[in-house]
Amino acid sequence: MSDLPMSGLPMSGLPMSGLPMSDLRKAALLGAFYGRRQKSLLVVEDEPAVREMVADNFRMSGYAVEEASSVGEAWELISRAMPNLVLLDWMLPDSSGMEFLRRLRREEPTRALPVIMLTARGEEADRIRGLNVGADDYLGKPFSLRELEARVKAVLRRAGVADFEPVVRAGGLEIDLERHRVMANSVETQLGPTEFRLLHFLMSHPERVFSRTQLLDNAWGHDVYIEERTVDVHVRRLRRRLEPSGTDEHIQTVRGVGYKFSVAMPPQDAR
Ligand code: CA
Repeated sequence: MSDLPMSGLPMSGLPMSGLPMSDLRKAALLGAFYGRRQKSLLVVEDEPAVREMVADNFRMSGYAVEEASSVGEAWELISRAMPNLVLLDWMLPDSSGMEFLRRLRREEPTRALPVIMLTARGEEADRIRGLNVGADDYLGKPFSLRELEARVKAVLRRAGVADFEPVVRAGGLEIDLERHRVMANSVETQLGPTEFRLLHFLMSHPERVFSRTQLLDNAWGHDVYIEERTVDVHVRRLRRRLEPSGTDEHIQTVRGVGYKFSVAMPPQDAR
């Protein structure tokens, strides 16, 4: 029998309060809050210097980044854990980026996986072929990291992948992840943990309608199995808590679809 190593208490995932939040702290906080909801990228690039530069840059910005230097490696990583977006080099040692993209678009689980291709300058024909095969965007080398990051954000936004902020304010409501506090028309309002996550997620995407499944994926996490009607239960609870301040009207039902957060007045029959 072997001795277990002595270990202290696990480190708290919560950041210290009172300091301005750096991007890394923000990412750690949101990662802890949403479980594995930190945005994830897969960088497929055979040139180590480029791959590492790109990967490090996104890690600094709070993304979870995986690296692959070949199509084979990329496929293996994707089958283990689906990233939110793939940055795909065009010329790879074992197969072309184009072939990889075709395969991603053919297979059901990866059909809608956002892909930004990285092409050598001037390969216009490749870019057009890539877009035809289903790339979401492309960038010619050499590219600026700032531009790449802006494009990644834009593609993720279009794909509905959340860009979370720890403090969100709208329609008389303020939700603060770090303090775990909700203010409704300046009155502190107590919410259960699920209602809190649900409200933060909805407020982070105002005016967007989410199905119950999408809410389960985003506010509960992928690994949890819960029935869809549970969402309705938590929405009802959330509304009841917000009712005294009149802010419950922002949690709106969209018939036959799901729910949204809106600061516009709901139609008469929508609640
Ligand atoms: Ca290459």
